[in-house]
Formats: sequence, C-alpha cells, structure tokens
Amino acid sequence: MNIEERYKARIDSMREFTYQWNPETYEDSNKPILKITKSSLGTFNWCKIKYLYNYIQRLPQDQTEAMRKGTVLHNHREDFFKDFDIKKASTMNNSEIIEYCTSLMPVDEYFDISLNVAAFEAQRFTEAQSEDKIDEYLPIVNEGKFDAEIIFRADSSKKYPLSRDYVIHIQGIIDRIFIEDGNLIPFEFKTGGWKDYKTTSMRQEMAFYQLLIENAPDEVLEKNGLTRDMKVTHWGWYYPAANYVFVEKITKRAMTSVMARIVRLIYAYEKNNFTEKFYAPMCSQWCSYYGICPAAQDSSWL
Ligand code: SF4
Repeated sequence: MNIEERYKARIDSMREFTYQWNPETYEDSNKPILKITKSSLGTFNWCKIKYLYNYIQRLPQDQTEAMRKGTVLHNHREDFFKDFDIKKASTMNNSEIIEYCTSLMPVDEYFDISLNVAAFEAQRFTEAQSEDKIDEYLPIVNEGKFDAEIIFRADSSKKYPLSRDYVIHIQGIIDRIFIEDGNLIPFEFKTGGWKDYKTTSMRQEMAFYQLLIENAPDEVLEKNGLTRDMKVTHWGWYYPAANYVFVEKITKRAMTSVMARIVRLIYAYEKNNFTEKFYAPMCSQWCSYYGICPAAQDSSWL
C-alpha cells in the first residue's frame, strides 16, 4: 500500500466523531465520539452558549469582514509557499528577492498586508541564505491536516470529575510547520491586530497543535512529511498587519491549560451545561449570535 492508501485505511479505522455528541451513547461503538478542534475549543473557552449555538445547534452566522479577510489572506499565504521557487530565488540579490516575493502576492483589497508579508519573507529568505539554511526556508507542512485520538481519564481533573474515561477525536489544519535542526516549529498566521494580552491564548492554540502532532498516528505524520522522532521544541505566530512575529520554546503550562479545557468541555457535555459569558464590549463587537443571545437581549435593557 502506498502512503495515500495507508493514510485512508488508518483514518477509516478511527471511530466516527461529531460535535453533536451524546456521552450517554459512548459505550456503543457505532455511535460517534466527541470531535474537538482548535476553533471549537477556543469558542467554548470564550462563551459556552456560543459553542452550543455554533457547534451543537449549528445555527448559521453571518460571515464578518474579519472572517473574509482571514480566509483570503490564509489562501494567499498557502499559495505563496507553494509557488516560491527556491532555485530561482537563490540567484537573486536582495532587491530582486523583495520584488520576487511581492510578485507572488495577488493584488486585492488586502495588498497592503500582503506587502508586509512579502517584505518579511524576503528578509527571512535573505537571512536563511546568509546562514546557509535555505533548505529550512520553506515550511515542511503548509496547511497540513492532522487527526488523532486521545484518552481522557475520568479523574483527569478534581474540579471537573468525569463519569468515565473517554477517547476523543482531535482534528485541525496546522497553518505551517517549519523545521530547524531536525526540530519542529508550528507557526500560526493571524490576520487581525496584535495585542500583548493575546499571548496566553496564542500559547494555548499552539499547544493544541503540539497535542495534534504528538498524538497523530504514524500514517498521518507520514502524509504530512513528518516522522515520529521529530519533536516540537518551539512555536511561533505572525501578525502581518502589525508586523509582529514571535517565537519561543514550548511551555508545559500552555499544554496543561489546553488539557484542562478539554476536560471542562467533556464535563459540559456530560452535564449538558452551556452557559453564557456575557461581556458587552466583546459580545457586541465580535459575536455573530448577539442578535439571538438572551444575555445580550437582556443587557440591552440596562
Ligand atoms: S453575545 Fe456574548 S454571551 Fe451571547 S453568545 Fe455571544 S459571546 Fe456568548
């Protein structure tokens, strides 16, 4: 069997998974297990009732400008690395590299942000060249899909004790993974503005990626060009609109926090308890369920 066939066979061998999960049917192996993604966990952490609306009840939400910008710029970035020709770039001087990176950016309403990305990538390429590390310039993973199953024990948390052990399915598309000296550096691309308070949530998003990579079956790693001996040692994020880039060593604390959040999510399903977390300035600006949320409607009388 080739890798595609082995990958498909391994994914097919996994139990079905869903957000519309019923913990009471867990013993029935024909029933799906809980699916968790970075986005679903982030939504749950933001507001449990938003999670209920979005993932369990699947209520439609309007596409905001921020969502549209995110999709368009993520596609541009994926295409940039697909199109980047290392051999061609290697023959260029600094200004030609800037020009080349710029030429790979589509001209659209987000071109000002794309120009920042082009300048950043030109600089990164020049640095890689001067350090004789051109082979590490391109990401080893460019929008790679990862699936894994992990076990959560009933006694994982004293505060949120579960009624039994559960296997859950985690899934995600990792923006990019770079490799340095054989070690992996997942890197997240964000199209919004940067604020220092986002550091904590970014660490948790990256720890979720680490969880995916470390628990992915061999076939999933292989399909993404990775091997089991490669370790995640650092992670990073890039906010081009703010020209902000950050890389650091992985932190155990972020992983502990992600695991605790997953337990809380399973616990919420067990108790069927998804309550609102209303905060007017955030809710009115960012929540696409503001118009139907009881907490938001009540608060409008304040
Ligand atoms: S408006 Fe606020 S409280 Fe209501 S669902 Fe949205 S985030 Fe939650």
